[in-house]
Amino acid sequence: MENLLNHIIKTNKKYANYGQVASYIPELRKSNAEDLGICIIDKNNKIYCAGDYKTKFTIQSVSKTIILAMALMDNDWSYVFSKVGMEPSGDPFNSIMKLETDDTTKPCNPMINAGAIVTTSLIKGDSLKEKEERMLSFFRKISKNENLNINKAVYESEKLTGDRNRAMAYLLKNDGVIAGDVDEILDLYFKQCSIEVDAVDLARIGLLFANYGVDIETGERVLSESVSRMVKTFMVTCGMYDSSGEFAIKVGIPAKSGVGGGVMASVPKKMGIGVYGPSLDKKGNSIAGIKVLEDLSKQLELSIF
Ligand code: GLN
Repeated sequence: MENLLNHIIKTNKKYANYGQVASYIPELRKSNAEDLGICIIDKNNKIYCAGDYKTKFTIQSVSKTIILAMALMDNDWSYVFSKVGMEPSGDPFNSIMKLETDDTTKPCNPMINAGAIVTTSLIKGDSLKEKEERMLSFFRKISKNENLNINKAVYESEKLTGDRNRAMAYLLKNDGVIAGDVDEILDLYFKQCSIEVDAVDLARIGLLFANYGVDIETGERVLSESVSRMVKTFMVTCGMYDSSGEFAIKVGIPAKSGVGGGVMASVPKKMGIGVYGPSLDKKGNSIAGIKVLEDLSKQLELSIF
C-alpha cells in the first residue's frame, strides 16, 4: 500500500503547476503550491501515509461537514432543514446569487458558505466563548488530536477580508434565516475554518463518518448513524461544490474539499482519507489532490457507485 501511495503522489505532483494557491485570504498565499500528501486510515486502524502528510494547513470548508453534524446533534433536524436546503447549488462555494433569485431565501445546502453560516448559527452555547470551546473540543474528539487549534494568523486574515461572507450573513439575517448577533456568528465561522490540521487528522475524521459514527478503536458511538449518513450524502452531492458531479463520476467517493488545500474522503465501511495539496483549480478544489483520489479510487476500486 505504501508503495502505491508513494507512486500516486509522485505521478500527480505535476498537476500542482496547473493550479494556484488561494489568495483571497492573504495568509493562505504562504502555502507551498508543490506540497502533496495523503493519509489513509482503514477499518482495522492501519495507517498508511505518503508525501507531505505531516504538513499543517487550515481545514477551511472541510469544517462544514463537522459543523453540520454538530448542528444536527444540537437541534431538531426539521428545524435545521427549515433553514438550509438539501440540494446542490451548481454555483461557486461563495456565491450569493441564489439567496435572492430562488423562490426561497434559505441557502441550497450546508456545504456552501451561505449554508455553513446557517449551520454555524445553530451551534448551541450561552456565549460565543462557550460555542467556540464546544466546537474546538468536538473537532479534537473526532480527530483524536488534543493539539488541534486555531491558526490565529489565518483567522485574522480571513476576518479582515471576509466581506463577501459578511454580506451573505447580513442578508440571511435580514431574511430571518439566521438569528442573533451576525458578527459573533461570523467570528465562529472564521474560527472553524481556521482550525489547523494535517492529512492524518482528516483521515481520522473521514474514518468516523465512513464507520457510521462509531469510533473504530473504542467502539464508542460518537455520531448517530443517520447523522453520519446525511453528512456523507451531502459530501457526494455538494462536497466539491460545482464539481461534485464530475468528481462523483471520476472518483465516486464521498468527499469534502477546502481552500486550504485539504480534501477529506470517507469510503463507507472501509476507510477515511486525508489529502493535502494547496494548489487549487478554478472551482477551489485541490487540483493534484483530486487526481490523487482519482488514481486511488481506480487502483483500489473504491467508487461507491
Ligand atoms: N473560509 C473560506 C471562506 O469562507 C472557506 C471556503 C472554502 O474552503 N471553500 O471563504
